Amino acid sequence: MKKIASLYIVILGLMASQLAQAQINPNLVQAGIDALMSATITNAQIAEISKEAVKEMDAKNPVAPASDAYTKRLNRIVSRYRTISGIPLNYKVYKVPDVNAFATADGSVRVFQGLMDIMNDKEILAIIGHEIGHVVNHDSHDAAKSALRRSALRNAVAANDGVLGKLSRSELGGLADYMASASFSRQQETDADDFSYAFLKRNGQSVLALATSFEKLDKAGGGKVPQFLSTHPDSKARAARVRARAKQEGVR
Ligand SMILES: [Zn+2]
Repeated sequence: MKKIASLYIVILGLMASQLAQAQINPNLVQAGIDALMSATITNAQIAEISKEAVKEMDAKNPVAPASDAYTKRLNRIVSRYRTISGIPLNYKVYKVPDVNAFATADGSVRVFQGLMDIMNDKEILAIIGHEIGHVVNHDSHDAAKSALRRSALRNAVAANDGVLGKLSRSELGGLADYMASASFSRQQETDADDFSYAFLKRNGQSVLALATSFEKLDKAGGGKVPQFLSTHPDSKARAARVRARAKQEGVR
């Protein structure tokens, strides 16, 4: 394993030096990186590293204690949803004013106080459904992998004990920041919306809460879209899409 990894490092090193000398096709370099990563990182490792990165994130942020009113409220909202689509979930509130929420490949869901302050319980569940959609659809997994690809590449140059080596705390922190603010493609966002819609419908919850949460985000943003929604189709269009579908299916 080590030998294979070293070989890739040599290949990458060669590619990098060629890149410096001539204008080599960057896709070739990317292909080398892809080979490197697929050879060394398993899904279980991604989940493990995501978990470590979230631990780092939790240490850096004011996590609401179990006795906190926000924690109690979140627990009430998600009590029936400790596992979704076979993924065991753990939930925490960050007591920060940002209107944000995220979920990571290991099933950690983090909801920010600012979001809880403007949404009702049904809307919070709808947004959590969306975030979990990213996990179930492997978007979070791919985002973590892409973030790792960078740090692993840095490590590959510096470390000599395997490609992943041991990620430093600051690298884990950087990885966590990246995962928390990962921007997905529009298609990934639409798919996550659809996941939330199906999740809410399946559980007899309000699908229209998904629409009203988008409308609130639209208002709260005042034209400025929160970062975690930056690549989403615009909030009004998303809300209209949900409303049209709910009407067609005769659900609320
Ligand atoms: Zn999203």
